[in-house]
Amino acid sequence: MKPTTLLSLSLAACLLTPSFGQSFDRSVRQVENREPSIPRPEQEAQVKVKLANLHKKTGQRPNIVWIVVDDMGYGDPGCYGGGEAAGAATPHLDALAADGLRLTSCYAQQTCTPTRSAILTGRLPVRTGLTRPILAGDKITKNPWADEVSLPTLLGKAGYATVLTGKWHVGESEGMRPQDVGFDEFYGFYPAQKEVSQRVDARRYPGIALDPLLMAAFEGLGIGHHLVHGFKGGRTIKVSSIESTEDMGRADQVLADFSIAKIKELAAKDKPFFLEHCFMKVHCDNFANPDLAGLSASKYPYKDAIVEVDLHIGALRAALEEAGVLENTLIFLTSDNGPQMDAWPDAGYTPFRGAKGTTFEGGVRVPGIAYWKGMIEPGRVSDDLFDLLDLFGTALTLAGVPIDTLADDRYYDFIDQTSFLLHDNGRSHREAVYFWWGAELMACRMRQFKAHIKVVLPQTTHKYIDHATVMDVGLAPWFFDLYLDPKEEMTVGHRMSPWLATVGSKLKAHGGTFRKYPPKNIGL
Ligand code: CA
Repeated sequence: MKPTTLLSLSLAACLLTPSFGQSFDRSVRQVENREPSIPRPEQEAQVKVKLANLHKKTGQRPNIVWIVVDDMGYGDPGCYGGGEAAGAATPHLDALAADGLRLTSCYAQQTCTPTRSAILTGRLPVRTGLTRPILAGDKITKNPWADEVSLPTLLGKAGYATVLTGKWHVGESEGMRPQDVGFDEFYGFYPAQKEVSQRVDARRYPGIALDPLLMAAFEGLGIGHHLVHGFKGGRTIKVSSIESTEDMGRADQVLADFSIAKIKELAAKDKPFFLEHCFMKVHCDNFANPDLAGLSASKYPYKDAIVEVDLHIGALRAALEEAGVLENTLIFLTSDNGPQMDAWPDAGYTPFRGAKGTTFEGGVRVPGIAYWKGMIEPGRVSDDLFDLLDLFGTALTLAGVPIDTLADDRYYDFIDQTSFLLHDNGRSHREAVYFWWGAELMACRMRQFKAHIKVVLPQTTHKYIDHATVMDVGLAPWFFDLYLDPKEEMTVGHRMSPWLATVGSKLKAHGGTFRKYPPKNIGL
């Protein structure tokens, strides 16, 4: 990968006077190995006081709860335009947004593993090597986690209890499991839902489920279909096995029950906690929980799954309240990528172009809700930029881990967004979001503008993963004004060259960070 060569070719058409770009780009690089950020000293100082006052009241650093839904579309929750209008009401999710901050430009990576690893390392997937999901049969050349310093490791050292419930999907081998990379405890499944369920789903996968020889070969791949309970430095046990689609349908209830019990246990202890609750739903293949089937107006399994997830979100919030820690807990709810349209109709909804697997908005723009009773002003909405990577730095700051103590031998892409989330009129510190597809730098958004230098184009309608190509753009990058054209259909092109040049310079500078800090290749 040579991003600078690629950029100099792609951007040759749009270089203008650099002085013009400086006023458009408000960010400042304060440390060589960290992403430049927009300084907001007053906002930061006020939030520091706000946090100190809370600490005086509680006597304990805040708990951090991340809730990650798998493949939920931007347009699925009611508060993002879906909900009842899309056949699946989401009252609990909507309440969380109404009582907190709803982000409308919150970005994930374009598939599961890249997002999940990025938020736990504060680094883009191309830097950690986790550029795409590790699939059955993949032979990777090194453990990507071996030289990464994960968020649960840092929080654990700072005195936090750390637990991951639900889907992992960032490596199943020893040394790569949650309990090996910093979490005190893991209770969940290693792979995604459809990998777990296909061996018991004779309707979708009869070729495996009904053929003993192929089934034996499939089993030989070693895809985990067990609910696993693992402890850091201790034992890892298989709690149960998914032996039917009904078992799969009930999995998220089992996981929610665990997190709810765990919240009660952790809240009673004399230390703060970090809980990452990762739903198996609503990633395909969805099977309605047999105890809750038909919950949605649509009655369709995907929609029932959305309604079930919403119920569990309400129960998790209620558990924090009952345990008496709601006022000392930041909850952040999101999805790890856009809807997987390749699986439609077992897929979510996005109003944007593209879907999971692309770096158009449909693949990467996701719901993002921050809720903290008493600390985040209810009813806030912001279209300022937020990259899920920023959760890493924000969690460190809340835990009192100084960001300056991070290693200086690697590049960090996160930005600490504590003051954006917690100030009543908070503004983002992030000036640019970069979009990658594997080891290819694809696009960049600054303010409402987005420039693509490569694109993923489906060759069959809606087949963004299974029948798509990655293409270079032509003389001018594909340049969209998302405020005029949120669907990225009408390029404004070289006529907008002053802004395009600035986004181009930003992409070039981003590519330049790889000269000193080369990407990691793990053979994916
Ligand atoms: Ca996903």
